[in-house]
Amino acid sequence: MIIAIDGPAAAGKGTLARHLAETFDFAHLDTGAIYRATAKKVLDLGIDMGDEAACTEAARQLQPADLLADGLRDEAVGQAASKVSAIPGVRAALLDFQRDFAKTPPDGKLGAVLDGRDVGTVVCPDADVKLFITASAEERARRRHKELQDGGQNAIYARVLEEMKERDARDQSRSVAPLKPADDAVIIDTSALDADAAFEKALETVRAKRP
Ligand code: C5P
Repeated sequence: MIIAIDGPAAAGKGTLARHLAETFDFAHLDTGAIYRATAKKVLDLGIDMGDEAACTEAARQLQPADLLADGLRDEAVGQAASKVSAIPGVRAALLDFQRDFAKTPPDGKLGAVLDGRDVGTVVCPDADVKLFITASAEERARRRHKELQDGGQNAIYARVLEEMKERDARDQSRSVAPLKPADDAVIIDTSALDADAAFEKALETVRAKRP
């Protein structure tokens, strides 16, 4: 069984994906980590983000260990990921890995949960369950701001909101695999839901497919 979870940054996809994977003993792939790891490589090697061929080569060279690099969750890496992920060659280079993971989950698991931006639309258009998790930009910025402050970083809410909107705009307007719900996705708005309530809603949808 394949569960595809898409949505914008800080909508709660990651938490939900991990919780669902644990509940059903499925494998979980955070596809954003692959784009972040590629971006980190590009930044560390000093590659110009406008150099599509060099960015694509960095994506092709990606190794599993790169997904464990320090600093992948930094905002600068997220912004860079949003830029390199708009390059068609980068997306093509990372597609097979994601599809293989979904079709043949590691450790003999019987299902996979993938979360990202285009899992239900491009990576796994035949997924058994498609969820699109969203929330208002203000609420997502509030959550990200709290996360940064809790982590000891001195973040300014207005700046976090501005960066969130910039990233949304870039992810939604790119020509390849733009962020949008699949036609058959169930949309869950978490603006007024905590993680448990969002999980209950998602569970209803999954159980309807997998009694
Ligand atoms: O979800 P996360 O914030 O880790 O993703 C970082 C960036 O990677 C996103 O802003 C998006 O541009 C890109 N991404 C993507 N396709 C995915 C997952 C992430 O383009 N499936």
